[in-house]
Amino acid sequence: MTAVGFSCGHGASADEPGALLLRRHCPLCSLLEETQRTRAELVGRAAPPDRRRVAAETRVGAVYSWQCPRGHDRYDASVVEVLTSQACAKCRRNAEAPTVAREGGVASMNAGLRTRTSVTEQRLRALLEARLRIPRGVNTIRVNRMFYGKQEVWPDIIVPALRIAVEYDDPGRSRRAHRGLKEVSDSDKDAALAEVGWAVIRVRAAGLESLGENSIVCARLTDDVADRIVERMRVLRGAEAVDAIAVARP
Ligand SMILES: [Zn+2]
Ligand SMILES: [Zn+2]
Repeated sequence: MTAVGFSCGHGASADEPGALLLRRHCPLCSLLEETQRTRAELVGRAAPPDRRRVAAETRVGAVYSWQCPRGHDRYDASVVEVLTSQACAKCRRNAEAPTVAREGGVASMNAGLRTRTSVTEQRLRALLEARLRIPRGVNTIRVNRMFYGKQEVWPDIIVPALRIAVEYDDPGRSRRAHRGLKEVSDSDKDAALAEVGWAVIRVRAAGLESLGENSIVCARLTDDVADRIVERMRVLRGAEAVDAIAVARP
């Protein structure tokens, strides 16, 4: 077999007889670049007896022994696992631990959150506020999964007393919003909220189809739509709970 060398200096060296020298970095260096890590960082994570070999390794599938930065037991994993996932089983389990689950489901106010409130969302809020007491400012719910690097989601309207979030979906928000990939991430979001005891009612406007029994399909926002949302809340949480936050209407 021909020895192969790479332009990063790993693999066979140029003075090795018959060595094939490639004008690109070795697969491991390429993965380091892709994941914005350095070789020194990777070597530092390896168990000391393996460090010398990790320093010269070219293959991303090579398996070594690693030490956890949080002090857990050493574990064996391939280079690609270490660079692209939570390879320490204990850290992985901690991320799903009950302490985290307890925090999940808490609605709060994140003052730094950018708000992209459309006129339609404001109208939806006004229609609901005419029927229910909904706290203003509460804009985030803690969940047990990560979304775009944060362990929280930001539904359009949050009704903490009922643990119900209301989302307004319409295809015009951005050209491809709520179709294809976006729809997948919406259903992930709904599932993450369900895990922490929240229900999501989705107003599906302007031609968007129903995603299930918590979808309110409509052409546009009317009083009737708001009534249907409240009716759905009664089905989900019981009339008593909804009546407790109802606004007295003349
Ligand atoms: Zn290399
Ligand atoms: Zn760990």
